[in-house]
Amino acid sequence: MRKVGFFRSIHLKFVLMYVLLILIAMQIIGIYFAQELEKTLKENFQASIEDRVNILEFSIREEMTRLRTEEDPSIEVSLGTVLSQFSSDDIIEVRIIDPKTQILATSEYENQHLVNQRTMDELVRKSIQSSTSFESTFLNESQRRIWVLAKPIISGGEVIAVLHIQSNIEKVYSQINEINQILAGGTAFSLGITVILGILIAQTITRPIADMTKQASAMAKGNFARKVRVYGQDEIGDLAKAFNHLTTRLQEAQSSTESERRKLASVLSNMTDGVISTDRKGRIILINDTALGMLGIPREHVLNRPVPAVLGLEQDHTFEDLVDMQGPVTIDFSDEDRPYILRANFSVIQKETGFVNGLIVVLHDITEQEKIEMERREFVSNVSHELRTPLTSMRSYLEALADGAWKDEEIAPSFLHVTQTETERMIRLVTDLLQLSRMDSREYELNTDIVDFVKFFHRIIDRFELMKSKDVELIRLIPPGPLYTELDMDKMTQVIDNIISNALKYSPDGGNVRFTVQAEDDHIKIAVADEGMGIPEANVNRIFERFYRADKARSRAMGGTGLGLAIAKEMIQAHGGLIWAESEEGKGTTIFFTLPFEVVEAGEWD
Ligand code: ATP
Ligand code: MG
Repeated sequence: MRKVGFFRSIHLKFVLMYVLLILIAMQIIGIYFAQELEKTLKENFQASIEDRVNILEFSIREEMTRLRTEEDPSIEVSLGTVLSQFSSDDIIEVRIIDPKTQILATSEYENQHLVNQRTMDELVRKSIQSSTSFESTFLNESQRRIWVLAKPIISGGEVIAVLHIQSNIEKVYSQINEINQILAGGTAFSLGITVILGILIAQTITRPIADMTKQASAMAKGNFARKVRVYGQDEIGDLAKAFNHLTTRLQEAQSSTESERRKLASVLSNMTDGVISTDRKGRIILINDTALGMLGIPREHVLNRPVPAVLGLEQDHTFEDLVDMQGPVTIDFSDEDRPYILRANFSVIQKETGFVNGLIVVLHDITEQEKIEMERREFVSNVSHELRTPLTSMRSYLEALADGAWKDEEIAPSFLHVTQTETERMIRLVTDLLQLSRMDSREYELNTDIVDFVKFFHRIIDRFELMKSKDVELIRLIPPGPLYTELDMDKMTQVIDNIISNALKYSPDGGNVRFTVQAEDDHIKIAVADEGMGIPEANVNRIFERFYRADKARSRAMGGTGLGLAIAKEMIQAHGGLIWAESEEGKGTTIFFTLPFEVVEAGEWD
C-alpha cells in the first residue's frame, strides 16, 4: 500500500490546525491588548501632563491677574521666571500666548527670541476662539511623536492667555513597542510549545490509524495474526477494539470458507463423475480433473470457453437450451477405434429471484453401460434368431406330416428325423446358454484335479481319431511328458472337443490338423492348427464372442450354435489361462490356449 506523504498526512493537518488556532487567538488578544495598552498609557501620560499643567496654569493666572507695581519686572520677565521654575522630563516646551496670539514667554531657552512675536498655531487660535483645550500629535523633524496641548487660561469668563505645551509622547510608544515585543516573543514561544504538543497529541490519533492501516494491508495479504494495539479508552481505542474484533471474525470466516473450499475441491477431485461449472454467460469457471480426463483437453484450453463448445454441443444447443434442459444429454465421442459415450446432466444455479447465475454440468461415462446394453440387445436378438430358425423348419415339417405325410412310410421317418435333429440343436443351444449364464453369474464350481495334460490330451485326440468322418490326418507334436496342470476334466474336455471339432469341421478332405503342446516358463501352451479356410483377419478375435460366426450360413449348416468358443474362453480364463487365435484366409487357423503349470515332484503321483 502507498504510504501517505507527510504533506498530506493528518499529522500535519492536526499540527497546522493547532498552530493556526493559537495564532488567531494570539492575534485577537494581541490587537485588543495593544489597543487597550496604547489607550491607557496615552491617557496616563496625558493625565500626568495635565496635572502638572494645572499647577502651572494656576501660577500663571496668579501672576497675570495680580496688581503689578512699578518695581515689578515686566509681565514677560515674570512669566519667564514662572516657566523657568517649571521643569519636567516629559515636557519639551511651554509657551504662554496672549489672546492676540502674541507669545508672552517660552520655557525653551533657545526660543527666547520668539517672545513678543505672533504665533500662527492653529490649536492656539481655536483655543482662544472657543475657550476650550485642543490637542494633537505630530512627528517632529527627528521623527519623534510630539503631543501638543493648547489650553486656555480663563479668568473672569475671559481667555487671558493660552498655554501651548509640547510634550514627548514617544516614550509611551517605545514602551508599547517593548510590551508588544514581549507579547510577540510569548506568542512565538507558545506556538513552539503548541507545535510540539500538537505533534504529540496528533500522534495519539495518527498512530492507531497507521496501525490499523498496516493491519488492514496485512489482512489483505492473509495475515490475521497481527492485532492492533489499543492505546486508550477513547473513541479511537474503541475503534481499535472493534477492528481487532473484525479481524478475528474475518479470520474465522476465512478459515471456514477455506476449509469449505478444500472440502469441495477434494470432493470434486475425487469424484468419478466429471463436474463443470459455468458463470451466467455459460463460460467455464471450474472443471475437475475427471471432466478434463473425460474430455481429453488441458485445463487452460477449457477455462473461460463456452460450455456448449467444449462439450461439442454447439451445433444443436445454445447455452440457454442447456439451462432449460430437463433430462440428460448423451454425448457420443466414439471414434472408429473405441466407443466413448458420455451422459451430461445439467442443473442451474439460480437465485431466489430466478436469475440464472450459472450452470453445473455433471458428466458420467456410460460407455460400458451402453456397451452392455447393446450386447444385451444383440444377445436377445441372437437367441431369438437361433431359436426361430429350427422352430420354423420344424413347424413346416410337422405341418407337412399333419397334412398327411405321416402316412407316407418313406417321407415320415426322414421328416421326423429332421425335427429330432432340430430339437437336439435347440436343446444344445439352451444347454450352452445355461452354461454361459451360470458362468456369467459365477454359479459354478470347478472340480479340479491335478492331471498330466499330455496323457489327457492324447486320450481326447484318440477319441477324435476313432470318430472322424473326414480324411484328415491328426498330427501330434506332443512331448513325452508328463506335464501336470490343475483342471476340471469334464469342462476342459468340452473346451478341447469344441476346438478340435471346429478344426475338423473347417478342414478340407486330406488336410492335416496339428496338435502342439509346449512347456513354457510357468504354463503349458497348446495349439490346434488346421489347414482349413481360415478366418478374415479383422474377425479373428471376434470368434470368441457369443453367437459370432465368421460365415453364418455355412457354420449354421454345420450345426453350430456359435457359443462353443465363447464357452471355451470363459473356461480357460476360469482355469487361469489365455485363449487366442491366429488365422490366415485360405491357409488355416490355429487356436492357442495356455494352462498354468503345476510343478509336481517326480514320483509323487506314480
Ligand atoms: P458350436 O461350437 O457351438 O457348435 P460353432 O462352432 O459355430 O458352434 P464356435 O466354436 O464358437 O461356434 O466358433 C465360432 C465361429 O468361429 C465359427 O462359426 C467359425 O466361423 C469360426 N471358427 C472357429 N474355429 C474355426 C476354424 N478352425 N477355422 C475356421 N473358422 C473357425
Ligand atoms: Mg464349434
